Amino acid sequence: MRDELVRLRREIHRHAELPFLEVATAALILRELEGLPVQIRTGAAAMTIDGVVDYPSVEQRAEAAAAAVAAGFDETTLTALAENGTAVVVDIPGARPGPTWALRFDIDGLPIVESTSPVHLPARAGFASQTGAMHACGHDGHTAIGLQLARQLVDGDFPGHVRMLFQPAEEGSRGAAAMIPAGVLDGVDRFLALHLGHSLPAGLAVGTGVGVQATTKFRVTFTGIEAHAAGAPQEGRNAVAAAATAILHILALPRSSKAATNANVGTIAGGSATNIVPSSCVITGEVRSDDGATCEDLLERVRGVIDGAARTWGVESELVVTASATTLHPDDVLVDEVVAVARRLFGDAGVRRTATMSASDDATILAREVQRAGGLATYVMVGGANEHPHHHPLFDIDEDCLVPAVRWLEEVIRSADDHSLHD
Ligand SMILES: [Zn+2]
Ligand SMILES: [Zn+2]
Repeated sequence: MRDELVRLRREIHRHAELPFLEVATAALILRELEGLPVQIRTGAAAMTIDGVVDYPSVEQRAEAAAAAVAAGFDETTLTALAENGTAVVVDIPGARPGPTWALRFDIDGLPIVESTSPVHLPARAGFASQTGAMHACGHDGHTAIGLQLARQLVDGDFPGHVRMLFQPAEEGSRGAAAMIPAGVLDGVDRFLALHLGHSLPAGLAVGTGVGVQATTKFRVTFTGIEAHAAGAPQEGRNAVAAAATAILHILALPRSSKAATNANVGTIAGGSATNIVPSSCVITGEVRSDDGATCEDLLERVRGVIDGAARTWGVESELVVTASATTLHPDDVLVDEVVAVARRLFGDAGVRRTATMSASDDATILAREVQRAGGLATYVMVGGANEHPHHHPLFDIDEDCLVPAVRWLEEVIRSADDHSLHD
């Protein structure tokens, strides 16, 4: 199983793709599941493109498909994925009555140029990304684990029903929300998301992440008036200056004593020439907190800063929320259950009930949806022994984490207690 997981993980790693452009990755998932007795949904049956902010253009998707064809993936499959979306949902029926599980595996990479240093295993072993994007968060491992788990479970020797959600666009928090309208959570009793890494020892099983942050991503467009910078500056309205003012004040927003908070402005683009008062500037940023209400409050303060900066410089401003994820409220019953299974498999030393996860994940939106419908949810973690932080050009998981992750999830599903459904 280890060889197979490593092979899968490395091939996925080599073809890292950006959010909603995971055509090669989705094609690989379909290829690896071919011939198995599972039900597979893609396209509109797995996600709804309408309403996704900044969904990639037809040209961007065609370009991603062309790159995947050049890399040897099936052209017909790629065309359909590029057209209809890259989410893949896999249903596996169990032979006995029991809960319906939804398991989330995210499949996207990041806009990071992977390190070519020989200290970096993917570079040394020849499976570094060939695409310009990078799996710097471990989602290559998640996808491999999901595929192997599907192969383990096709014997149907478990209670209930397993649905695997291979989710696009986790980075940027847009993919989960796009899958819900397609009905992928209908009838789900239990939800599990898995994340590898987090600087934990390789293979360490964690029952749930805590401190998972709510996040709201935003884009602000400032619109001013162009004028000659020396000939008639009084006629101009400087959009870059307004953005600069806003950025400094967003970064200076007061922290909370009640919750963890973060505010960042990550990109800025504006202006056209040194001698023209710039009439347009666009910034993107985000706020985060481990408390949902605090996150909302931060966004309100950002709105205030934007309005004030725009008034100061006499320009117009428009803020658009581009993505969001919420906090996590894991269900103790389910955490107990997965921890008990992990203890059986790995012993006490191989398990922790909780670990801090100081990041965001839009799996929280799926978890909340399942919980609202009366189901249970948790966000399990498996240590990846990563030396470098997530989203770093040298990030890498220790491949020893892959087998324990599959064994754990497999055993959680095989040993699910039918009775706890009626607790
Ligand atoms: Zn990430
Ligand atoms: Zn991630």
